[in-house]
Amino acid sequence: MEKIILTGDRPTGRLHVGHYVGSLRRRVELQNSGEYKKIFIMIADAQALTDNFDNPEKVRENIVEVALDYMSCGLDPAKSNLFIQSQIPELCEMTTYYMNLVTVSRLQRNPTVKNEIQLRNFETSIPVGFFSYPISQASDITAFKATTVPVGDDQLPMIEQTREIVHKFNTIYAPVLVEPEALLPETEACRRLPGTDGQAKMSKSLNNCIYLADSADDVKKKIMSMYTDPQHLLVSDPGHLEGNTVFTYLDAFCNDGHFERYLPDYANLEELKAHYQRGGLGDVKVKKFLNNVMQETLEPIRKKRGELEKDIPAVYEVLKKGCEIARQEAAQTLSEMKRAMRINYFEDEDLIRRQAEKYNA
Ligand code: ATP
Ligand code: MG
Repeated sequence: MEKIILTGDRPTGRLHVGHYVGSLRRRVELQNSGEYKKIFIMIADAQALTDNFDNPEKVRENIVEVALDYMSCGLDPAKSNLFIQSQIPELCEMTTYYMNLVTVSRLQRNPTVKNEIQLRNFETSIPVGFFSYPISQASDITAFKATTVPVGDDQLPMIEQTREIVHKFNTIYAPVLVEPEALLPETEACRRLPGTDGQAKMSKSLNNCIYLADSADDVKKKIMSMYTDPQHLLVSDPGHLEGNTVFTYLDAFCNDGHFERYLPDYANLEELKAHYQRGGLGDVKVKKFLNNVMQETLEPIRKKRGELEKDIPAVYEVLKKGCEIARQEAAQTLSEMKRAMRINYFEDEDLIRRQAEKYNA
């Protein structure tokens, strides 16, 4: 079977380094591997509206920000189709039919949605659209017959829900849809990068992000004020690695080459960690190293962004073309679905003839 990618992000803010290690970096590698027949990258504005319906300007403003972040990281419109969710109405139609295949109690069990409801203080007033966004996400994935969805680990329950819908649809109607697989980053740190405040997840909604577009100065400031080990008061004290965000970021970003270039006293991260745990290694030194590592990663992205920002209409043009292609693709799948569901009345001459015979026999 040909391999197809669908993945995306909500335009609720600029993209951050959690997106980068969780999904973006991998997307670019996959794009350049040449192994994928088609790649669809979606800006999920309709999903963003499920919890930002009263702030449409925020969503509108951030479309181009996300597109700029994509292209500055190396997503190439010639190889990856970049598009905007709301411009593909077929997705809503699919969602309507998938809603029949999912129970309310199944949605209530989704751990990511549960957690997000808590974070947003929605407990007693959950918008139906927000509650059911995993179903809409199943439409996004299946519309393109995606086999592979590169995401961070908060998205696993969504992929699982999608697989269930696909299985049910294919069993009841006809085998039209493809069961997708999540593609998670290899290391734990990258699957869910914590926020600079030490919270479990860096997230646009939590204000604890290092953004890809942050200036070098801002990145440095954020790193130098990052959460470490509260018990590591004196340099000579033994330090702890668990929950120590600076080390989690090093897990996600650094390689042995960085040690050669910026901290040659250590061969690799294992040695640095061992020293920290023994005592005698100060947080500031580790943070300065992390800053060098992250600046090296972010500098080319910032530079590329600067160039792309000079021609914003061209970015919208990329998205417009992407929407056209995505729409054709989704329409094709929807028409196969409707045939399978027996709601393709006007293209079914047999049906019309049979009904006519019934009355004119
Ligand atoms: P919001 O707060 O609006 O939900 P977000 O920061 O969670 O924004 P999303 O657009 O929801 O970002 O997520 C897009 C993709 O990035 C998903 O695949 C998600 O798993 C991944 N991702 C988001 N945050 C992280 C993170 N901290 N670590 C790893 N991956 C992440
Ligand atoms: Mg999110």
